[in-house]
Amino acid sequence: MSMSSSRLPALAITTAFARRFPSSSTKKIASVTAVRFLSTAPHPSTPSQVVIDRYTTSPPPPTTAASNTARLPNNVRDRNALFDDEEARHMGGVTATVRHDWTKQEIADIYSLPFHDLMYRASTVHRMYWDPSEVQQCTLLSIKTGGCTEDCSYCSQSTRHKTFVKPTPTMKVQEVLEAARRAKEAGSTRFCMGAAWRELGNKKNAFNHILEMVRGVNGMGLEVCCTLGMLNADQARQLKEAGLSSYNHNLDTSPEHYPNVISTRTYEDRLQTIANVRDAGIQVCCGGILGLGEKEADRVGLLHVLATLPEHPESVPINALVAVDGTPLGDADEIDRVDAFDMIRMIATARIVMPRTMVRLSAGRLSFSHAEQYLMFQAGANSIFNGDKLLTTDNPEFDEDQAMFNKFGFKGKPAHKGPLVAPAESAGQVHITRVEAPHKEEQYA
Ligand code: SF4
Repeated sequence: MSMSSSRLPALAITTAFARRFPSSSTKKIASVTAVRFLSTAPHPSTPSQVVIDRYTTSPPPPTTAASNTARLPNNVRDRNALFDDEEARHMGGVTATVRHDWTKQEIADIYSLPFHDLMYRASTVHRMYWDPSEVQQCTLLSIKTGGCTEDCSYCSQSTRHKTFVKPTPTMKVQEVLEAARRAKEAGSTRFCMGAAWRELGNKKNAFNHILEMVRGVNGMGLEVCCTLGMLNADQARQLKEAGLSSYNHNLDTSPEHYPNVISTRTYEDRLQTIANVRDAGIQVCCGGILGLGEKEADRVGLLHVLATLPEHPESVPINALVAVDGTPLGDADEIDRVDAFDMIRMIATARIVMPRTMVRLSAGRLSFSHAEQYLMFQAGANSIFNGDKLLTTDNPEFDEDQAMFNKFGFKGKPAHKGPLVAPAESAGQVHITRVEAPHKEEQYA
């Protein structure tokens, strides 16, 4: 984390900030007590303000008036600590709180709201925590395709299903880095690498190459994510040291429905890998797939597991099944296909119960019109995968997504840019300042 000691002026402090940063909250944020200011004029009692840099892979930007925007730590623990004392945010009659004690019934009640109420609430919560004009573009590359021994019944890469996928060896480091460079040029700020296997296990050679890939992609200033199956604690630690930002490991569906989809590893196995990732200080990317023959209660059940984890995943991908011929779910005629409203409800509910999380509109976009996708962004999705392939299945062409972004007035989200520190951030520049405890209550008055 880099900090600048430049003096930054303050225009307004809301009482909401005061509630969120009581005087006992001096323990976190690298010994900085944090108060946010909307800034345009010097403030007399802010002698040691700091801007905390969001980026650790590139030098901090100069602190000119134009660049004095909020910077959050890239380190996940430092970043999450920024919000520890926050109680709630309020906007337009809607209150949002980052809670970990949701009941299933509460989530089901949100999921079942009349559509206009659900959309209003989700969209408002989204604006409290995120810039709604920013949608992250991510690229997902299959660095090792097919030949997986697991039996996930939706997957084209399992050896147990006869699909069009032909197994290929792990890609070379240079090939992967070249792909990452191209992705960055095309506007991606997050590069994800996926390998089709059950677990990293004892694949020492492959792991060393992957660590090299992670270092290389991180060095380009991109967020770097991997999805490599089950991981142990030591592997997670090595990935963290190499610069991995995030690890993807989806729970797919509810604990109850999971055994109908996968039998070769358990829900608990998955939760253990997620815990190993979290313990290593890597951001967690964990979501699910709609269209696995689940009931709506299973969708709520998945969100309940995610939203009651000790820390919410920083990233929750919501996928619509892309049915592949030869897979059990692709061939199952009796399973209802997912429609846009299923996706919108799921995204909106995820946004409300995990407001600080990136909700990623992931696989299945080819079946949705721009108008339908727009509703998903309104519901709180703030990421897409670009490029015409998503692992092995088709995805919209890059140019088509650019046209959609232009139509909606979206811009890409920069790498490592986290949630808004406070609602005020979207209205101007917010700075994290050092405020001596004795003066704090006076300032809030
Ligand atoms: S989803 Fe992953 S673990 Fe499951 S079969 Fe496909 S590649 Fe293997």
